[in-house]
Amino acid sequence: MSNKKETCEFKTEVQQLLHLIINSLYSNREIFIRELISNASDAIDKARFREQTEPALFEGDNDYHIRISTDPEKKIFEISDNGIGMTYDEVNENIGTIARSGTKAFMDAIERSKESNALTPELIGQFGVGFYSAFIVAEKIILLTRAPGAEKGVRWESDGKGSYLIEEVEKESRGTTITLHLKEPEEGEQNFTDEYTIRHIVKKHSDFVTYPIIMNVEKSEPIPENERIKDADGKPLGEAFRKVRADETLNSMKAIWAKNKEDVTDEEYEEFYRHISHNWDKPLEILHKRFEGVTEYDALLFIPSKAPFDLFRPERKHGMQLYCKRVFIMDDCKELLPEYLGFIQGVVDAPDLNLNVSREILQEDRLVRNIRKNLVKKIFGMLEEMPQEKYEEFYNEFGQALKAGLPMDFENRERIASLLRYKTTKSDGKYVTLDEYIERMPEDQKEIYYITGENMKSLINSPLLESLKARDYEVLLMVDPVDEWVTQSLHEYKEKKLKSAEKGDLELDKVDDEKKGEYSTLFKFIKEKLNERVKEVVVSNRLKESVACLSADDYAMSAYMEKILKASGQETPEQKRSLELNISHPLIQKMKHIFETDTTNPLLTDYSEMLLDIAIVSEGGKIDNPARFSKLMGDMMAKSI
Ligand code: ADP
Repeated sequence: MSNKKETCEFKTEVQQLLHLIINSLYSNREIFIRELISNASDAIDKARFREQTEPALFEGDNDYHIRISTDPEKKIFEISDNGIGMTYDEVNENIGTIARSGTKAFMDAIERSKESNALTPELIGQFGVGFYSAFIVAEKIILLTRAPGAEKGVRWESDGKGSYLIEEVEKESRGTTITLHLKEPEEGEQNFTDEYTIRHIVKKHSDFVTYPIIMNVEKSEPIPENERIKDADGKPLGEAFRKVRADETLNSMKAIWAKNKEDVTDEEYEEFYRHISHNWDKPLEILHKRFEGVTEYDALLFIPSKAPFDLFRPERKHGMQLYCKRVFIMDDCKELLPEYLGFIQGVVDAPDLNLNVSREILQEDRLVRNIRKNLVKKIFGMLEEMPQEKYEEFYNEFGQALKAGLPMDFENRERIASLLRYKTTKSDGKYVTLDEYIERMPEDQKEIYYITGENMKSLINSPLLESLKARDYEVLLMVDPVDEWVTQSLHEYKEKKLKSAEKGDLELDKVDDEKKGEYSTLFKFIKEKLNERVKEVVVSNRLKESVACLSADDYAMSAYMEKILKASGQETPEQKRSLELNISHPLIQKMKHIFETDTTNPLLTDYSEMLLDIAIVSEGGKIDNPARFSKLMGDMMAKSI
């Protein structure tokens, strides 16, 4: 069979990406070395894991290492590994497209970053575009690779300008070699064929990589006595040292999670964090601990300082890696932490684990469940103890993830709830905890009040809150879409019910039935005019100054929830709300008067429509017929002048 060979176009997004990477990461060129090492190390992780089940495939070549070599004359930088390699299709898939699935979100992020004129390194790190960073320094890249057991190898070549050539070739050894034909460095730029430069970069970014990174370097060694030139008296003459070439391991390979905290520097933690997370930021918080007890294990966890753009995408990989006695078992280990904490990056090394564990077994494994429980406990402890300012920094990035955890983690519900923060009608733009809220409740207040909506300002001024404010009750202002899930899953906190200010009966100021009765025929009339658009027209006990608002039943969906669902294209059942009217308001009193003298007065119809429109506008909603609204408004204003 003849060898496959084809020229392929990069997917459009790859082309754009290449362009952007080259331009925006130019000042950070050296990171391509770290990216390629990191890929090689991942590939060896995978090979070692596969070797557990198919040792025959790896026989004779399981001395795992990464090798860097250079040719200064030809301006070549080369890195090879004896890891898992790639098949023909895998090369097409991994190197011709963007490896992650969030292409749409990715393009959006690029668009946004274009506006702000900076494709930041952090952004690139999030997309796992590591390999392409090599095009910052290379004018041509050749990748040669062979997967274990594959008959043929694959050669991939590209100048990063739109297309690549891919073909089947012979390749004896398993693994991947990547050859960069370097661009001519400009004045003052690093030379990536220079041994000292490389040594320095590897040490800086990749010291803890668990496999040796070997380079054949020039060294000086003492010349043995008997080989040295001697004078007539037998005394050695001239040079005592000579230059030789020898292999040297550039990295120390320290598994820093297995070390004592005191022996790890901040820089080492940060580099390690970047290595496992592919992020470029600094971690916000680090948890490094040896758990001892029935079983022992090490854990090193990081909370990133920035939330990833795809925090809530189901296909997003989890940040945890599982090791056993420093041997990599798997990444994306969803069993180690609950779904909602999947943004935490880290490593667990559990020596008692079976090396051959599969994901299926892992879920049932008692040890793993135990680890998970302990980690969650520690993480909560850490969050609870964070200084306020730092915690709020965390909360602004990952508060949504915690909220999403409420319906999922019954066991820790109260603990998650105590970590929530809200701005309130009384907090002056500052965050308040639920405990603080309860602490401040006036004696006659029984429940925790909240209101959900899109916009802080319209919430604060919402007519729905008037009678609560009149009683000096504080109201939590919930403006995050995820808050709808909070209110649905957190029905009470420390024995105080959570109550929506826009739903059900607030049971505050009772209006006596006789008074209500006086308005019933007018309200029936208004309801008939508005017909299907409202559920009922009722006397409000929420309003103090405003004339109208809309409210829902206790168990109905909030207006905001409905809006969110509609915006996400979901079918929502038709939700009708009640129009509440304030019978202390002069407008309603005057309407009543007109109604009692002449039920056919056309003003009554206009005003009924207006009342609904006013209620909608006051919550920041869209009215059906804005033109009519503004005409009526204009007429009225003219009359009142
Ligand atoms: P990332 O490493 O973040 O996934 P890259 O663009 O650096 O993104 O690599 C894309 C994919 O190509 C990797 O996920 C991996 O599957 C494959 N790959 C890259 N380098 C190697 C290598 N040295 N050996 C085997 N596979 C590799």
